[in-house]
Amino acid sequence: MSGNPMKITVVGAGLMGHGIAQIFALAGHPVQVCDIDSEALEQVRPKVEANLEQLVQYGLIDAAKIPTCLERVRTSTSLARAVQGAGLVFEAVLENMELKQKIFAELDDLCPTQVILATNTSVMSITEIASKSRNRERIVGTHFWNPPHLIPLVEVVPGTDTSQATVETAYDLLAQVGKRPVRVKRDVPGFLANRMQHALWREAISIVEHGIADPAEVDEAIKYGFGIRLAVLGPMENADLVGTDLTFAIHDYVLKHLESSPNPSPALSAKLEAGDLGFKTGKGFQEWSDEGIQEVRNRLTDHLLKWHVARKNG
Ligand code: NAD
Repeated sequence: MSGNPMKITVVGAGLMGHGIAQIFALAGHPVQVCDIDSEALEQVRPKVEANLEQLVQYGLIDAAKIPTCLERVRTSTSLARAVQGAGLVFEAVLENMELKQKIFAELDDLCPTQVILATNTSVMSITEIASKSRNRERIVGTHFWNPPHLIPLVEVVPGTDTSQATVETAYDLLAQVGKRPVRVKRDVPGFLANRMQHALWREAISIVEHGIADPAEVDEAIKYGFGIRLAVLGPMENADLVGTDLTFAIHDYVLKHLESSPNPSPALSAKLEAGDLGFKTGKGFQEWSDEGIQEVRNRLTDHLLKWHVARKNG
């Protein structure tokens, strides 16, 4: 058990919501998941159970933990009932500004002022999401990454009115349940990690668009190159490792040649126009069979689970 049990409410029972619920239930907290869609709520426990069984298969948890963990996860279609007695509420509904503003205004009315209200928005402004609420000091961004039960990172992002106490309480709770929170100092689009991730994707797509390399080889250059190193050596450490003088010399020469467009690539728009949406349609930048899609999904889950096994074994 990590810290004293605190009731956690998760609003939105989709891909992210059920994973966030699992994290807290596994750490010993009672969790209430709320959704307007009762079918989504019915899927919460089976999905959490399937995730937990995978953790058992890889020796990450004891099978005996499954029933107690599932027992801690309750569901409700009523927001008022779901937040009763909660210490922290995570919102994980669709990425829609008006919907999030409405839910936060409702949560603000329903919850006593000491209850922290957190949004899992991927990219939207925390300040704007909180703008229709009165007690904005207790509203904070907690950006989990997919799949939330396997990716340790959570970005903790203050809006302009968020108190430092809210940031620190959210940070501490996330750390207690085994996540790796990072503090983002300001509410900027893309927060911290998506800014870096999409700077890389913009360049990758631009390289393909300009015929410098094929998509598969762009990925290979990362998977068999600096991607291996990135897991243990971040860019700030790496800049010091090679020397800030060398980093300066490289940037001085190459930055002007890198993609700097503020808009999505025309190659990406062309894919949309052609209906080539990737896994959804079997074709994106590359062609995908059903087996190929399954192989990628299995490869990712296996990699993430083995990462946890390696950490557990020191
Ligand atoms: P999802 O579509 O899987 O689930 C959203 C759920 O919200 C649905 O079950 C829906 O019924 C429910 N919902 C809609 N309106 C509601 C309301 N008024 N009250 C309660 N529930 C309501 O979405 P997701 O992928 O889980 O994303 C949720 C949030 O997390 C979004 O803000 C998204 O940007 C963010 N996020 C997603 C990912 C990702 O990889 N999918 C990663 C990080 C953050």
